[in-house]
Amino acid sequence: MTFRLPGCLCGKRADTLSLMSRLADVAPGILVATSRRDHTTTTVVIADRGARSGPALLIDPSWEADELAALARELSDRALVPAAGLATHAHYDHLLWHPGFGTPPRWASAETARRAREERPSLITSLGPGWPAELIALLGDVTPAPGAMLAWAGPDVELIIHDAHVPGHTGAWVADRKLLIAGDMLSDVELPLPDNQPDALASYLAGLDRLAPFVRRAALVVPGHGAPTADGSARLDADRRYLDAVLAGRRPADPRLDNPDMAQAHRATVLLARRPAVTQARQVRSSGRCKGLSPLTAPHPMTRATAGRGSAHL
Ligand SMILES: [Zn+2]
Repeated sequence: MTFRLPGCLCGKRADTLSLMSRLADVAPGILVATSRRDHTTTTVVIADRGARSGPALLIDPSWEADELAALARELSDRALVPAAGLATHAHYDHLLWHPGFGTPPRWASAETARRAREERPSLITSLGPGWPAELIALLGDVTPAPGAMLAWAGPDVELIIHDAHVPGHTGAWVADRKLLIAGDMLSDVELPLPDNQPDALASYLAGLDRLAPFVRRAALVVPGHGAPTADGSARLDADRRYLDAVLAGRRPADPRLDNPDMAQAHRATVLLARRPAVTQARQVRSSGRCKGLSPLTAPHPMTRATAGRGSAHL
């Protein structure tokens, strides 16, 4: 089951539309808004699952300046008070904030916080011209989370840190809601987007392996871009199938290839897979290590092949 949210513009060019969605109730104590830009999601976890107001965890608020202002107004109107923030990774569309959200701790993985600090000039440039100074000042002002469990006014939130998409990428698991915040993975609109590191494909597959046990237990998966779904396993399978096809040199049969910008992203991933280091990994993988693995219970064969080397490099 995929949730159709107001403002989730599947099949349309989101940037041609001018309205953003309001926060939509997708499960008890869980609200999601979808930006007009790239189907980017904002997730709100209300501390008390039976309440409609009170302290809340604000994850990846996004994206356009007017949307952030509208989000701040709506949170205020609903008497929802950000008690903590979480940035899933160090890309500019996930490091945003608005003065109206207040000044609670804004957590991230240590690697995300480091990148947000050290890459700040390029992150600001990526926002594009005309971004309000008051929002630029708040971009990426995140603090390393003190541990794997997020301490805040609400239910336990387990941070799932891995290096898919970008090093330090962080999923969030809210066990008492069976909610998985996937960050920029498990999307119905975006293909797997490895970064440009030599080991990026292995890191991506390892990240999917990290998410797999949570996906299996999740009643709801919210991707950073696209529609929330009750069937996270289908998203995980789709991401693995896509990467398997790319590594095997086949054209993936994946409807996401038809989405705007995905053709270019796909070409970049194909080039990544052709690098000599990845070719070696493909040879190891095709030697038979992958036989008999259940995709949702066993590590991906490519990541298995690299395990125990003390390095993710292939
Ligand atoms: Zn993103």
